[in-house]
Amino acid sequence: MNTRKHAGTLELRGERLCLDFTNTVGWHASDHPQEWLLSYADLLAWSRHAGIVTASQNEQLLQEARSRPALAEEVLRRAITLREACYRIFSCVVQDCSPKVEDLSILQNAYAQAMVHAQVVPIGERFTFNWPGDEQALDFPLWPIAHSATELLLSEELHRVKACPGDGCGWLFVDKSRNQSRRWCNGQDCGNRVRVRQHYQRQRTSRKS
Ligand SMILES: [Zn+2]
Repeated sequence: MNTRKHAGTLELRGERLCLDFTNTVGWHASDHPQEWLLSYADLLAWSRHAGIVTASQNEQLLQEARSRPALAEEVLRRAITLREACYRIFSCVVQDCSPKVEDLSILQNAYAQAMVHAQVVPIGERFTFNWPGDEQALDFPLWPIAHSATELLLSEELHRVKACPGDGCGWLFVDKSRNQSRRWCNGQDCGNRVRVRQHYQRQRTSRKS
């Protein structure tokens, strides 16, 4: 069994689709970020993993990408541009600064594209947007992502967006805890790493004194 970590196995801990998408880079806030979207196939693998394309859409989009490789490359570039704009916008929100106009306009353009293709559909007693599968459209996965980012930016939950304080981590998430106490992307990883470092620092300081 192939257990290698890849775009289709990344942890989805952002609590919002758009933040999970910004977290397709490891160590996003460091000077050695790890890119997980290295090909259009990676973008599709993540989209399938995040539940925005079905298995059959995935297959059809893959085939379409094979027959139009240059376009698939361009869509990947657009996906990364959108992702980085979202990352800067929400990181700015966390730090209480104003996002750049250029980043907002990248998101706005992607949102406008998304809404051209959106359908309003009933779910139970309410309604929501849906993107019917258009397996010819290689940028199909970007639509729900752009919608998710715009919706979060306009929502009451915006003040719950946090960035993991782990060294260089930079993962973004919505803190859903009732007392807003979530600190880490993952307490097992970043939380532990910081606790271990603090432990050794305390030991060093106590040895010196
Ligand atoms: Zn972290």
